[in-house]
Amino acid sequence: MEYTQKLNRQMFFFIAAFIVFAYLLGKFFSAPLKQAIFNSPPLDEWEYINELEVFANNWGVIDGDLPVSREEGIKVFAALEGYRDREQEYETVLAEAGIFSDDDVSVLARGELFRLAARLVQAEKTEVSRSYFYGTEDTDVPLDMLAQLGIIEVPYERQFAPDAIVTRGELARVAARIALPDLRITNAPLTVSPKQEYTYEIMCGDLETLAAAYPGLVTLQEIGTSVEGRRILAAKLGNGNKEIFLDAAIHACEWMTTPLLMKMLEEYAHHARHGQAYGGYDVAAMLQEVSFWFIPMLNPDGVTLVLEGPGATEHAQSVNRMLRQSDRPLKRWKANIRGVDLNRNFPASWPYLVKVDTKPSPAFFKGYEPLSEPESRALYDFTLERRPAMTISYHQQGEIVYWYFRQKGERLERDRTLAQGLAAALGYPYYRQLLANGGKYMDWVISELQVPAMLIEVGTDVGDLGQWDRIWRQNRYLGLVAAELLLTLQE
Ligand SMILES: [Zn+2]
Repeated sequence: MEYTQKLNRQMFFFIAAFIVFAYLLGKFFSAPLKQAIFNSPPLDEWEYINELEVFANNWGVIDGDLPVSREEGIKVFAALEGYRDREQEYETVLAEAGIFSDDDVSVLARGELFRLAARLVQAEKTEVSRSYFYGTEDTDVPLDMLAQLGIIEVPYERQFAPDAIVTRGELARVAARIALPDLRITNAPLTVSPKQEYTYEIMCGDLETLAAAYPGLVTLQEIGTSVEGRRILAAKLGNGNKEIFLDAAIHACEWMTTPLLMKMLEEYAHHARHGQAYGGYDVAAMLQEVSFWFIPMLNPDGVTLVLEGPGATEHAQSVNRMLRQSDRPLKRWKANIRGVDLNRNFPASWPYLVKVDTKPSPAFFKGYEPLSEPESRALYDFTLERRPAMTISYHQQGEIVYWYFRQKGERLERDRTLAQGLAAALGYPYYRQLLANGGKYMDWVISELQVPAMLIEVGTDVGDLGQWDRIWRQNRYLGLVAAELLLTLQE
């Protein structure tokens, strides 16, 4: 199959080597040493995959969603079972034990994975029957055993599909359970599925689900509605007095910043609720001091236009006219549905804005007056109401942090320090632009509230979901980094 050919064999050699190393470590060294080396933190899937990547000497990206080939699965388990470099022999042993399904497919199936795992955790390895996990009467016995050992999650018991493809993330978790029994691995939370064309409807559904799943921790507020009446939602996370705003998708084509904030919200809530550190941060403790306001989609009409086409909006005619008069394709539409660039519509040096379109268009028209649009007005009013200690606006693209709008003296130093800290965590440069045009939300926050306001550009190409993993790895702790920097600064 095409995708299995793409998998990097060398990388899996490193992974297998790491697992053997870990296995031997567990076998021959004392628990304290193991503790010291791994510091035995609870890892979620993403973090574990990241650990593997470090050991794999940064051999490319390990994508947790990619399917695992049968060959790779065998390699990993051969290493675990002492058949390293004797995979063919091991494969014969497995075939005789009836581990494999009859289907001659090149990807590892879930039934096969669990039978492989069962071999390793049973005292009499040779007696693993291939009828295990096939929904027969005795199904529950090995499933319960594996669940007790923490190798599989209990929910699988009721929705087990033996033919389902095993993903790399699952293989990593199962192998880690066996190789490092002391390692606690938690499933990554599953409400937000960020690697998709993330629409307004999906966002609304996910926000409702998260608010219901984390009562007292996540609360929703509607801060306004768009031109076409779509809700502009904000989710508050935490109970601290210092408030940090995180906003996204003020520009329509930058819709990938919405799932970025949604995933961040879910991960932070999940780790806070379970008392687990995330990226080394004690999230629960932090949320006693700060609260985050996630505003994941400021321009829901524009996002709907870009993802679902003009027909999904009430403004198809005028949108098509603006597109005809512009050389900007629909996929790069930035404005709201009336052709106003919301991030040129804020009252900060607005009259002096240069290099902007003079009439409604897909990008860069600043409006006939500041705050002419309901979306910019909603964010403006909400900001004045909450008076956040810091704002972070997500945009795409460029991998850079902007932070400057004519602030001076101590505020200049403070904001530069913050930008430097965020940029270091992201691996992005931070930039003091020479021409601070104005009109942006960030510009207005800096001049009106006199608090730090950052603008982060993620990725290198708008709307390319292939960049998701990279963007997520760079940005997942960003809110926590910002909170910590802010708290340190104010001590
Ligand atoms: Zn933008």
